[in-house]
Order: sequence, then structure tokens, then C-alpha cells
Amino acid sequence: MSQPVVAKPLPPQTPEWAPFYQAAARGVLSLPCCQQCGEFRFPPRPVCPQCLGRTFRWQEASGRGEIWSYVVMHQVYHPAFADEVPYAVVLVRLVEGPKILSRLVDVEPQAIEIGAAVEVAFAAVGEDIYLPEFRLASGREGARRDS
Ligand SMILES: [Zn+2]
Repeated sequence: MSQPVVAKPLPPQTPEWAPFYQAAARGVLSLPCCQQCGEFRFPPRPVCPQCLGRTFRWQEASGRGEIWSYVVMHQVYHPAFADEVPYAVVLVRLVEGPKILSRLVDVEPQAIEIGAAVEVAFAAVGEDIYLPEFRLASGREGARRDS
């Protein structure tokens, strides 16, 4: 197996995102939840888009949702992904409401369907950095992916 010449780009680790990554390291999808109206939001931002409330707390989400849109990447736009094409990038609408852009793993691209139920898993992408990815919900296919 060949090693990529260039490492994959990692998302910036800012204080605003720290609770998200801390939860991800525990295998939990956590989202900001408005304390004024109860609406979940993602990505994290200081003001609730629903009620403009400024107080929120991070709350565990179900990790379940459905494929709202997707694209299958065939072109290598970054050398670190050369061994992975084709791969699916999905926009998942979480049952809590927000949409999250992520990878869909353990499925052949031709089997992807809009509206398919998915569930979150977490992939180690760096030292103590885990990113959510999705797979088709239980009962279809999938096993835990630890690295
Ligand atoms: Zn709100």
C-alpha cells in the first residue's frame, strides 16, 4: 500500500469547535442547542438562526438522519485522497434538523439513494482528531471502523 505524499487537510481546531471534537473523540455527535427555543444548529455559531437567542449548550444528538443530497467524487482534487476515489460526500439531514456535510462509507456509489437512512460513526483522522462519517443505517450494511 502506498503512503500519500501529502497528509489530508484537517479542519481547523478553534475554541468554537472544541466541544464538537471532544465529543467526537468519545464517539458522540454533539450539536449546539438553543436554550431559548430548543432548536439544534450546525455548524456552531453564536446566534440561533431560529430565534436569535445567544445562549446555547452542546447536546448529544442521535447520530441518525437521512441522505439529503450527495456527490460521488471521481476526480482527485487533493493527492491525499488519490487512493480513495470514487468516494461519496453526503449532505445528511439529521433527525434533529440541521444538515451536516460528511463522508458516506461502506457503500458502493451506485447504491446511494436520496432519503436513505444513515447513522454516524467516527473515523480517526489525526492525533486525537475524529471526524463524523456516515453509513447506511443498521440492517443494511456496515461495521465499526476504528481507523
Ligand atoms: Zn433559538
